[in-house]
Amino acid sequence: MKIRNPRTGEFDYELSENSAESVIAMADNARLNQKKWQLKSIDERVSVLKNWLESIKKYENEIAEQLAVDTSRKQIAKVEVKGIFGLLEAWFFRAPQLYNPPKERQSASCNTVQIGQQWVPYQLIGVISPWNFPLLLALIDTIPALLAGCSVLLKPSEVTPRFMDGLEKSIQEVPELNGVLKLVRGGAEAGKAVVQSVDAICFTGSVPTGKKIGAACAERFIPAFLELGGKDPAIVLDDADMQVATDAILRSAVGATGQACQSLERIYVDEKIYDEFVTIITNKSADVTLTTDPNKGQMGPLIFEKQAEKIQLQLDEAEVKGAKILTGGKVKNINGGLWCRPTVLINVDHSMQVMTEETFGPVIPIMAFKSDEEAITLANDSIFGLSASVFSKNKERALEIASQIEAGAISINDGSLTNKVFDAEKNSFKESGINGSRMGDSGFLRFFRKKAVLFQTAHPDTMSGFEEMQ
Ligand code: NAD
Repeated sequence: MKIRNPRTGEFDYELSENSAESVIAMADNARLNQKKWQLKSIDERVSVLKNWLESIKKYENEIAEQLAVDTSRKQIAKVEVKGIFGLLEAWFFRAPQLYNPPKERQSASCNTVQIGQQWVPYQLIGVISPWNFPLLLALIDTIPALLAGCSVLLKPSEVTPRFMDGLEKSIQEVPELNGVLKLVRGGAEAGKAVVQSVDAICFTGSVPTGKKIGAACAERFIPAFLELGGKDPAIVLDDADMQVATDAILRSAVGATGQACQSLERIYVDEKIYDEFVTIITNKSADVTLTTDPNKGQMGPLIFEKQAEKIQLQLDEAEVKGAKILTGGKVKNINGGLWCRPTVLINVDHSMQVMTEETFGPVIPIMAFKSDEEAITLANDSIFGLSASVFSKNKERALEIASQIEAGAISINDGSLTNKVFDAEKNSFKESGINGSRMGDSGFLRFFRKKAVLFQTAHPDTMSGFEEMQ
């Protein structure tokens, strides 16, 4: 596979895709090695992953540089690698606390029986991840799965595969890890082979692919943990702090060029403060600088050319239906890269895809509302339910609105807090995902099946107790 460089538009990297047969061979080997891995204590697994952390640190610059080419984001790439150090450290601390199968106890429902509880990890987890935060989303589920005692087949996105070269070196330096963590290279076909080879899937990606994977997992009768797309709304109440709201919404909507699942993608503002809000956020959007000179600027090019096409189509459709673009508005080719300036749109409504479909670009469509009830109705008028934001100086009013929004996480007086806060459990609503939270304690605990071992301490019931009344 020839891979496109998002800054130059050149296809300058070659990815050799794993065949289905090679994925099966990796799965067999990972299953074999998992038997020993599972027998280790949690502290022993932590210590193997501590060696991995040291190994990643050795290749930190190499991985960050590869990621920077994958995503065309230098600073975020560095932060992404450092984020993995934080993620590992957090699980080193929390996983041993959580691994605590209950002690043997007497059953409350049958007093002659002692209950023993065993936690059995899935043998082999498949992790399939997207291109927008290639390293973080590859490892966010992989790390707790490994600590739980599972082996992992990890297939990152074929759109941003360069970082795998550095990551693979870091894995190979830790022989015990090398046996239980296998990198699969390729696109949909390699992903399908992973789904066919594992005992549970952790998938992060789009809703259409998530539905296909969910169906394939149902066919195989294995669990699918699906973390999918979003169309996150922000509600700005009339008592919101205007600078807080405009700063947070701008950063959340256009940070990482809007290529984050929890980007704010539709903004509802109380009509009493609408004009002021639109003026301020338009001015702030116009001030955002591009990294066309890779050594300075705030916002990089779009990573994936197919997404760039979708963004332009949504903007064109909105304009045809009467939307007005106040700043930005066009995807432009600059030296081969595809760039979109922060784009503020008004006169929008829910007949337009820019208000209903995921955009995944730096686009800020704004609508006015007349009452809190109308704002909630608009926010909930979506097939998605990933996360949302509410801006208000009145905590109780904000919490009341938060309780009525159909989404898995609500940031109050900020946007996209789920990209910083990993220890709050959240379940996506509607088509944004299904099954146990990857955040918080469940991010580790969901990799175990709980087995009950029941000891009878008295003589078992005999058939004489089963005489039916005639
Ligand atoms: P995608 O669905 O196109 O691809 C994701 C992964 O699935 C890739 O690795 C791809 O190769 C693989 N794949 C594709 N078809 C497959 C199949 N039939 N079987 C198995 N694997 C298959 O998504 P994308 O474009 O890479 O990522 C962007 C999407 O990810 C957006 O919708 C975004 O909102 C979502 N996302 C969600 C979260 C979250 O936590 N909820 C986080 C980041 C991104």
